[in-house]
Amino acid sequence: MSVSAGTLDRQQLRQQVRGVAAAVADPELPMLTLADLGVLRDVEVEPHGQVVVTITPTYSGCPAMATMRDDLVHALHDHGVRDVEVRVRLHPAWSSAWISDRGRRALAEAGISPPGPVRRVSGPIAIDLSPTRREVRCPRCGSGRAELTSEFGATACKALYRCLECLEPFDHVKEI
Ligand SMILES: [Zn+2]
Repeated sequence: MSVSAGTLDRQQLRQQVRGVAAAVADPELPMLTLADLGVLRDVEVEPHGQVVVTITPTYSGCPAMATMRDDLVHALHDHGVRDVEVRVRLHPAWSSAWISDRGRRALAEAGISPPGPVRRVSGPIAIDLSPTRREVRCPRCGSGRAELTSEFGATACKALYRCLECLEPFDHVKEI
């Protein structure tokens, strides 16, 4: 597919461009697209044809940010969009609740436990110094009995668990 401003009106162009941007894979969780992850917030085509893509990065300081930006620009260049600006929106902050159902299934199929519900706290926040309690299910055998091995897995956004039934280790995408 080649996106050409000459043959399409802006609305059609926006849809095509959004499709290209939405299909870009996340650098750290490549089984997920930026759309699955909820990172892709907005795609606009300016009147003079410039494409503005707005993303909200996942975990703060995520080193994948620069890669995400490059991947988006390259994907759009490959589809004939020359003038691309990637904007970063930090508020509201990304939440693991933004991961789509499709994304959660893709994680589980890849042997990664998807994040559970996010606890939204309003008012004063109680400081809890005990280890993070999560409801984690083994993506291989489905057992709810798992122990935390490491709060930081291969990347900061994942914690490492071990299933107490099938004894396999697995990554869990953290709730934020
Ligand atoms: Zn298991």
